[in-house]
Amino acid sequence: MNMSPSGHEAALRAHALLLAWYREMGVDHAVADDATDWLNRGDARPGDGFVFPDLDPVEPAATTPPRPPQSAVSDRRPMGAPPPPSPARPAVDTSFRPAARPLTAAAPDEATLAARDAAREAKSIDDLQARLAGFDGCGLKATAKSLCFYRGATPARVMVIGEAPGAEEDKHGKPFVGPAGQLLDKMLAAIGLDERHAHITNIVYWRPPGNRPPTPQEALVCRPFLERQVEIVKPEVLLLLGGPASNHILEKPEGIMRLRGKWKDVAIGGHTMRAMATLHPAYLLRSPPAKRMVWRDLLTIAEALDLKTVP
Ligand code: URA
Repeated sequence: MNMSPSGHEAALRAHALLLAWYREMGVDHAVADDATDWLNRGDARPGDGFVFPDLDPVEPAATTPPRPPQSAVSDRRPMGAPPPPSPARPAVDTSFRPAARPLTAAAPDEATLAARDAAREAKSIDDLQARLAGFDGCGLKATAKSLCFYRGATPARVMVIGEAPGAEEDKHGKPFVGPAGQLLDKMLAAIGLDERHAHITNIVYWRPPGNRPPTPQEALVCRPFLERQVEIVKPEVLLLLGGPASNHILEKPEGIMRLRGKWKDVAIGGHTMRAMATLHPAYLLRSPPAKRMVWRDLLTIAEALDLKTVP
């Protein structure tokens, strides 16, 4: 194609904008050489191995049950689902069967049951990690590079639970190793804790695409593993970082400013302990004055565990 210099510059600018947008959305590698126009594929399924059990039609269209009225369903597509069938588009090729790389291998309830079965029998933290690595029920696994299970000690007096791995964590396969993790390490060091005494993890074990917050469903599917993890680690104290982790573990919908700074008794599996919610270090990076509140929460933990604070 013959392009004028200004046309060429405009194309370069558009390309740079598109790359920046991809980066924002969490795209960090290409899965194929050629782009696929998903909107124009209509009701065809992704060809790179994603499986949508509920959407793979095996019956002729005439026997498909009627759709519920529009008012009964959300107008949002479930994350990862292909666009709805369009009469103007070609019929589905039912002979097409992608190689199995399940996005969500089962319906949500089935996935949670499968997680419970897998986690329950785990004998040790390594056994639990192996079972988690073989678990395909959390859709986040399909888009993440690595499983980010935990870092630190097992057992441990303090178990730190955050929200979800980010880009750095996904790259290294460990929670809290990016900027928020570095601040977390400083916070723990201030009350005399490090990886020898603390076990650090998240409510979900894979990075959500584009760093979006994990959905409650994703957290619930991972929960049986987290509960078994707590039973194995046997912490005296849970330190919950930020709203989503605090809401999920304490099963309370209040905002983090209401939840933080107060002891809550928590029973998980066969283990009981006290939990302290505080602000997330990623928030502190954006709002350093809030560190004063976190320092108070940390001092409360130090006092309870008789830890030496570092001035
Ligand atoms: N934020 C989290 O909540 N968890 C991580 O592992 C990293 C950043």
